[in-house]
Amino acid sequence: MTSQKLLKLIKEDNQYLFQNYGDRLPVCFIKGDGDYLFDQDNKKYIDLFSGIAVCSLGYSNPRLSKILHDQTDKIIHSSNWFLNAEQIKAAKLISELSFPGKTLFVNSGTEANEAAIKLARRYGESLESKPYQIISFKGSFHGRTFGSLSATGQEKIRKGFGPILSGFKYLPLNKIDAFKKEIGKKNRSCAVITELIQGEGGINLADKEFIIQVFDICKKNNILFIVDEVQTGIGRTGKLFAYQHYNITPDIITLAKGLGGGIPVGAVHARDEIAKFLNKGVHGTTFGGNHLSSAAVIAVLTELKKDKILNNIEKISCYIFSQLNKLKEEVDFIVDVRGIGLHIGIELNHPGIDIVKKALQRGLVINCTVDKVIRIMPPLTISLNTVKEGLNILRSIFLEEQSFQ
Ligand code: PLP
Repeated sequence: MTSQKLLKLIKEDNQYLFQNYGDRLPVCFIKGDGDYLFDQDNKKYIDLFSGIAVCSLGYSNPRLSKILHDQTDKIIHSSNWFLNAEQIKAAKLISELSFPGKTLFVNSGTEANEAAIKLARRYGESLESKPYQIISFKGSFHGRTFGSLSATGQEKIRKGFGPILSGFKYLPLNKIDAFKKEIGKKNRSCAVITELIQGEGGINLADKEFIIQVFDICKKNNILFIVDEVQTGIGRTGKLFAYQHYNITPDIITLAKGLGGGIPVGAVHARDEIAKFLNKGVHGTTFGGNHLSSAAVIAVLTELKKDKILNNIEKISCYIFSQLNKLKEEVDFIVDVRGIGLHIGIELNHPGIDIVKKALQRGLVINCTVDKVIRIMPPLTISLNTVKEGLNILRSIFLEEQSFQ
């Protein structure tokens, strides 16, 4: 069968899937190698997207692949009824690399936030005034299950599901007066949940000064400070966790995406005194932290512990920002270039989907969020040469667009 026929069949059979992702981009990747993806025609693509910041070690990483193969040959799953050496090792690594505490493994970012929300509510329940409100910020994205959806500070994502969970308050990001005003009243909040760089919301950075003040106010008022590191964690911003740029240590972090290098896994990590509120029988998951996903976490974190990858992120990030800032001078429709590390947004003054499609035709994978923000989130291991090639393609598309305007 020719690849064209194969693609046609795949497209037709797409009808068997829910249509919640709308029309998917017309490419079916069949393999990946390092910085590159290959489609049904064996056409090669430079990947500046890493499957929404997931494939942190690129594709077919030999060390990740070997650990996964070996683990699959031994045991994939046994359940949380039993001790699990890989899960314990993965949790220990998270504690060593972030802050001392305990980890609960789940299967996705939304589940990690769901568990963090339940944990925060149990913590609130333990306090005399029984606060249960959770503050989040406008523009945030925390997931699609009811709890994490209710925490999400974007009305368009919450709407249409009937009553969502009550007890959430959405405050503007980087506006300390609004935060002070909310807490100044009789405090009803048990937790604040925030991304430090809003990813799905368009690469919006939380100001350092704002976060430090919010953190201090939380400390003084027994309010938990939860950082959603689902997109920003595991090296994406050039440090292992984004909170490390802010000189604070949160009470809870939530992780997923890059944590398993492509194997679905999420985690909630909390200080010991907080983790105890999800005690026996209060929360659980069948698959969470099984032998295979834990092995993936061990492989990813072991790689990231080596300075080599973090240094690479810094080098590549500097290069990308220097090139994009130059491009911004040449191209009128670029409104802003922002981000940290390899979590980068190019805001346009018009929708970006056509640029994404053109890039795909020319062998470059990028993404667009909130309609106008092109996202650049390559594998953390990407080489400078690949990035140069990728940015050349992007540059030519932008200049062409500019000449049409
Ligand atoms: N939190 C943040 C910051 C995210 O970016 C996402 C997904 O994009 C989620 C939570 C939800 O994660 P998942 O899609 O793995 O459920």
